[in-house]
Amino acid sequence: MRELVGQSEQRDIDLLIDKILRDLGRPEPPLDLRMVRELLRLDRMYYSSTDVGPLAEFAHRVKVAGKRLVEDPKLILDVVKKAKLSGLWLPDDRKILIDKEVPELKHRWIEAHEISHSFVPWHNEFLLGDTEITLAPDCNEIIEAEANFGAGRMLFLGDKFSIEAKDYETSFKSVQALKGRFGNTLTSTFWRFVEDRDPLEPTFGLISTHPNHADIGPTEDGSGVHYFIKSAAFRNMFPTVTAAQLFELIRLRTSWKRRGPVVEGTAPLMDGGGSSRTIVLDGFCNTHQVLTLGRLAR
Ligand SMILES: [Zn+2]
Repeated sequence: MRELVGQSEQRDIDLLIDKILRDLGRPEPPLDLRMVRELLRLDRMYYSSTDVGPLAEFAHRVKVAGKRLVEDPKLILDVVKKAKLSGLWLPDDRKILIDKEVPELKHRWIEAHEISHSFVPWHNEFLLGDTEITLAPDCNEIIEAEANFGAGRMLFLGDKFSIEAKDYETSFKSVQALKGRFGNTLTSTFWRFVEDRDPLEPTFGLISTHPNHADIGPTEDGSGVHYFIKSAAFRNMFPTVTAAQLFELIRLRTSWKRRGPVVEGTAPLMDGGGSSRTIVLDGFCNTHQVLTLGRLAR
């Protein structure tokens, strides 16, 4: 996903986040999003199928197939659900709307994502450039990837996460410790750990189905793989390694346990130069998915 965000956009977003953190007096983790909202003068509201009121303000600016939806806010809920949106940003009112029916665990990320839309100046131009706010901006992959990048940088306090993570060894235990410290989900902490702890260490993260329990984290395409995350060094050293290949290595080293540490062991992996390397696997099941951290053996 980060591949979609250009280098100069990453730099610009980093600078914007840094200014926010500076204005907040360089807070210690976990970041209190209430403070960020106060600083940026943003309101947060929730909507749900039983309370579509907040969507009404949005509805009067949206046309679907040339028809305004303001008369029936319930219709806008259908549109929002169909577009798979879990949050919205209303620039005119500086309001963030969050879908109350999304599991609460995810609200923090959604909120940070919508906050990012609010301070990335070209997102505003994008949204305000239209006479109508359409659902299109949120369908735009690059804009979305940029907002997710901003959310990650915000919730993990800029460079603070990678600086602190370097003091921890590359293991799943470290991910859990940092999850507690930064107050973000296990999955988002895992993601940041693989990408940001040390880009020079070949590390990958695979979020998958439980190989021995198909009911845990099934994938729509049946591949068993939800996400394949790589550090920059892993990308360079193993340019052709696929998620399917790693999933097979993981499968052979997964226990029958349904939760907790479930993957353990080492495996051979061919690098881009044709040499056999050894990787160390360390995987954990949170009962929804299996998160496996892989690193090069020293
Ligand atoms: Zn968005």
